[in-house]
Amino acid sequence: MPAATARSQPVADPATGEDAPADLLIIGGGVNGAGIAREAALRGLSVVLAEAGDLAQGTSSSSTKLFHGGLRYLEHFAFRLVRESLAEREVLLRAMPHIAWPLRFVLPHHPGLRPAWMLRAGLFLYDHMGGRRLLPATRAVTLAGAPLGEGLAPHLRRGFEYSDVWVDDARLVMLNARSAQAAGARILTRSRVVSARVEAGLWEVRLEGGTCLRARTLVNAAGPWVGAVLAGVAGRNAPARLRLVRGRHIIVRRLFTHDRALTLQGGDGRVAFAIPYEQDFTLIGTTEVAHEGDPAAATCTDEEAAYLCRFVSDYLARPVTPADIVWRYAGVRPLYDDGARSDTQATRDYVLHLDQGQGAVLLNVFGGKITTYRRLSRAALDHLAPHLAPQGGAADTTTPLPGGDFPVDGVAAQVAALRAAHPFLDAAWAGRLVRAYGTEAAALLGGARTRAALGRDFGATLTEAELDWMHSREWARSAEDALWRRSKLGLRLSTGQVAQVAQWFAAVR
Ligand SMILES: Cc1cc2nc3c(=O)[nH]c(=O)nc-3n(C[C@H](O)[C@H](O)[C@H](O)COP(=O)(O)OP(=O)(O)OC[C@H]3O[C@@H](n4cnc5c(N)ncnc54)[C@H](O)[C@@H]3O)c2cc1C
Repeated sequence: MPAATARSQPVADPATGEDAPADLLIIGGGVNGAGIAREAALRGLSVVLAEAGDLAQGTSSSSTKLFHGGLRYLEHFAFRLVRESLAEREVLLRAMPHIAWPLRFVLPHHPGLRPAWMLRAGLFLYDHMGGRRLLPATRAVTLAGAPLGEGLAPHLRRGFEYSDVWVDDARLVMLNARSAQAAGARILTRSRVVSARVEAGLWEVRLEGGTCLRARTLVNAAGPWVGAVLAGVAGRNAPARLRLVRGRHIIVRRLFTHDRALTLQGGDGRVAFAIPYEQDFTLIGTTEVAHEGDPAAATCTDEEAAYLCRFVSDYLARPVTPADIVWRYAGVRPLYDDGARSDTQATRDYVLHLDQGQGAVLLNVFGGKITTYRRLSRAALDHLAPHLAPQGGAADTTTPLPGGDFPVDGVAAQVAALRAAHPFLDAAWAGRLVRAYGTEAAALLGGARTRAALGRDFGATLTEAELDWMHSREWARSAEDALWRRSKLGLRLSTGQVAQVAQWFAAVR
């Protein structure tokens, strides 16, 4: 792998003053765009990433937030995808032990739905297909009268417990962008690409506001907007083989005191999860329906939220009602249309399509999961390699993301060290900082020995020092960026406190 240095930034041509063309211009700052930027920059290529709004503002902050193989996909014989995803879980966990952690899932056996032998067989495959080393194996569990049965309906007497991995999806994207930037990539947020045309063998890419950039190759990683970029930006007429599927989540106050998630089967064949979320909450989702229209307009409607309440209540002693919902969100999967009969059966695998019809290379990214973003990114660069100057081969993207340079079981030690250096931190505050910033939490806090040294207090342990960090290092430019993507403190702040955060951003702009 070539050493990644700042030389990989496109530099100005001394004769014309114009930026030299980048090797790669990536449209879209979701997990796939940011992952491709990291892989390319670490290969020593010059990279520009243009994101229309904030990093991860599209699907990549609206997922169920799991690095998972997808137990359900076994039923659709997606063995290649499941195997690759299962193997990725542990690679990714080691590279980001701050924002990702092992999670145990309890799958109750529901009389009348899939039989116990089928669940056992599926979980046996799930345990053994992907080279599991860190994560504990599946086991049978008793629910009736046992701690894991807390809050569950009495007809649920037994089940299975298996492993997957939780990840903070929005921070995953931002940290990939930071790693790419450290290796020389230019990351442009709030930079919508409005047109891309080939002139003399190079892509001329125009941003909203008039800035023009040039690149040897173009990557369309616009997620659910991949078709809109193909037609509206790149002027290609071929219809994109895209299937947009909307998924919704609701968040309620914490349903269980144990730390397990639940995997719930619906009578309609669907599966939903109830996952411990941000210490005091439970995340419930997702369901899937075909999405029409602009993906940015996707919402979780009252009817959809009520469906999720009914779904989860089937398993509970005390039902969840719409009045219990404290937050909800929706996201749109940009699935590759493989001609499957239903949205649930459509492949979750990624497809990379290389288009050279305009005299310069355009790579379109379809589908994928957050779990496979690293593999997708490597495959994307392998597709582009013959069209670029020789590189030293695939980058080592198993190395830690910023702040992730500590062992997978080292969170408690990080929290203890942080509290020793900053005695005013309580366990919950230190834990939150380590889970968001890892080893970089120490740099964020600097030499602060008192709470007051961190500047203004916005509530729920959010201080000016943290907002400064998000603004200067993480591209946060609004209260929403800070409170719903860089953190989930939006769940805890009052309307007045949110307004103060918004005013802070307006003042530092
Ligand atoms: C409900 C739901 C649950 C999911 N759960 C999981 C899960 O638990 N595990 C898992 O592995 N996967 C999961 N997925 C799948 C995963 O979230 C997606 O595959 C992934 O986030 C897609 O990333 P992306 O980068 O392709 O798209 P996006 O994240 O949408 O990024 C595309 C970006 O392109 C930008 N853009 C669009 N047009 C332009 C333009 N003209 N100029 C500049 N920028 C532009 C957008 O603003 C956007 O930020 C889930 C998906 C959904 C919907």
